Amino acid sequence: MQAINPRTGEADYEFAVTSREDIASEAARLRAAQPAWEALGPEGRAGVMMRFADAIEAAAPAIAGALAVDTGRQAVSWIEIQACVGNIRGWAAKAPSLFAQLPSEVEPSFTPGVEIVPAYSAYPLFGAICPWNFPVILSHIDAVPALMAGCAALVKPSEITPRFVEPMREVLAAVPELPLAYIRGGPEVGQALIEDVDYVCFTGSTATGRKVAEAAARQLIPANLELGGKDPMIITASADPEWAAGVALRSSIVATGQACQSIERIYVARDIAEPFLAHLVEAAEAVAITYPDPAQGHLGPFIFPPQGAKVQAHIDAAVASGARVLTGGQIEQLGGGTYLRPTILTDVTPDMPVMREETFGPVLPVTVYDDLEDAVRQANDTEYGLSAAVLAGSMEEAASIGARLEAGAISLQDGAMTSMVGDAANESRKGSGLGPSRMGDSGLLRFLRRQSLIQQTGAALTIDAYAEGARG
Ligand code: NAD
Repeated sequence: MQAINPRTGEADYEFAVTSREDIASEAARLRAAQPAWEALGPEGRAGVMMRFADAIEAAAPAIAGALAVDTGRQAVSWIEIQACVGNIRGWAAKAPSLFAQLPSEVEPSFTPGVEIVPAYSAYPLFGAICPWNFPVILSHIDAVPALMAGCAALVKPSEITPRFVEPMREVLAAVPELPLAYIRGGPEVGQALIEDVDYVCFTGSTATGRKVAEAAARQLIPANLELGGKDPMIITASADPEWAAGVALRSSIVATGQACQSIERIYVARDIAEPFLAHLVEAAEAVAITYPDPAQGHLGPFIFPPQGAKVQAHIDAAVASGARVLTGGQIEQLGGGTYLRPTILTDVTPDMPVMREETFGPVLPVTVYDDLEDAVRQANDTEYGLSAAVLAGSMEEAASIGARLEAGAISLQDGAMTSMVGDAANESRKGSGLGPSRMGDSGLLRFLRRQSLIQQTGAALTIDAYAEGARG
């Protein structure tokens, strides 16, 4: 397969797709290594994981270099590596105490006379299918707690961003006892992975998530899905308009809007709409794209160039139906890369694609509301339920509104914090996901299968006693 450099538009990288046979043999190798890995216990595994984190840090320049080409962005590439290392060290520190808290006996409520001793064992082989928007973070966000739980892990990063796998494979060579492997390729490789693992975590679009869930259902394995979003932000009349504009802008455009938790719809109270929009436009126009110098500016190119055309189509359809562009609005081709400056739209209506479908670009459609009830209703009127945000004059006011929003994680007095707060357990709603939370303790505990050793402490029933009991 070939991959495109998002800064030049050129297909300048070729890589071998992992064959069906090689996927099966990697899966078999990992399965064979898993019992010894699980037998190390949480402390033993934590020690190896700490060495894995150290090895990533030592190789950070090579990984960041590859990732910067994959994604067209420099600063975020370093942030991704730091976040990945932090995730590994965080789970390594936390896992032993989580295991220590697992109950070692269960008091029977329904069946007197038995004693129940619970046992816990990891799903042997975990699999991850990952997207292109944060390639390093999202290829490891579930694999790390799965490994800490005692699973072996087979990871398929996106075929759009394959370069970082090479330096990561070198990192793995420094930690040979870690049962982790990467496979590369597109949808067929994803489907093959599902056939070979015992538990799959998928991060990506809602459309692909349905296909993954169907394939997992055929295999009768659990599938956790982390999917797309159309996150709303409500800004009330008591919020400071300049502060709200700054928070709304950052929450919408970080990583060129290519984040599942980006704010994609803004509802602002009419009382402050005028100064809010003025500050928003001013702040948006101060944002620089990272061209020609990738080390300068805020917004990189679209990682996946066809995404730029999709975003433009959302803007054009909105304008054709009466929306106004206050700033931005036009894709720019620079040096072969596809860029979009922050784009602010007003006079949008709920039926427009930019208000219903995931845009995944630095686009802020702003709706002015008169009635807070109506704003809450509109914010909830979506197929998605990943996260949401509220900005108000006080935390109490923001919290009372946030509790009524139908989404997994609600940021109050800030925006788009969903994936940045590791302890904030949440399950996405509606079309945004399925399964136990990847954040919080369940991020690890979901990978443990419970077994009950049911001990009969009295006399086992005879068949005669059973028949008499049944006759009353
Ligand atoms: P995508 O659905 O196109 O692809 C994701 C992965 O699925 C890729 O590795 C791809 O090769 C694989 N795949 C494609 N078809 C498959 C099939 N039929 N069977 C098995 N695997 C298959 O997603 P994308 O475009 O790479 O990523 C962007 C999307 O991811 C956006 O919708 C974004 O919101 C979402 N996302 C969600 C989260 C979250 O935590 N909720 C985080 C980041 C991104």
